[in-house]
Amino acid sequence: MNNMKVEFEALPENEGFARVAVAAFLTPLNPTLEEIEDVKTAVSEAVTNAVIHGYKEQGGTIEISCVLEKDLLKMEITDQGCGIENVEQAMEPMFTTRPDLERSGMGFSFMEAFMDCLEVESTVGKGTRVIMEK
Ligand code: ATP
Ligand code: MG
Repeated sequence: MNNMKVEFEALPENEGFARVAVAAFLTPLNPTLEEIEDVKTAVSEAVTNAVIHGYKEQGGTIEISCVLEKDLLKMEITDQGCGIENVEQAMEPMFTTRPDLERSGMGFSFMEAFMDCLEVESTVGKGTRVIMEK
């Protein structure tokens, strides 16, 4: 068992930090390039969502928690932003509440495709937690 937690400000420039932090944590497992890219993509999508949807680009705190059990990574990305009214609808491919920002509504679909397991817990006014496994 191994674990790590990082907390950072919800700024677009911290998306790169978040991707690299998780990738660095996984390095001792000797993951394939493809595995690393998949996890990085999922981190990017979840962090971007927290920055632009959760905190509406007004800033806030994002936490990433990773737990490794043998070769299984369990990752949680949490914000205390506005929350999601209808999680089931939000997770549908091409659903977006921000077509004005030219979002394509594919973030959750990518997370689902690149990771083995995706769960979203959200409460309006409290925030969102995205739980993924690989
Ligand atoms: P894309 O990711 O393709 O740029 P998108 O962000 O709109 O577009 P998804 O990532 O699939 O698409 O998210 C779908 C919708 O779920 C968002 O439009 C937003 O309404 C909501 N959502 C996602 N993550 C959060 C979050 N952390 N807090 C609040 N709302 C969220
Ligand atoms: Mg998105």
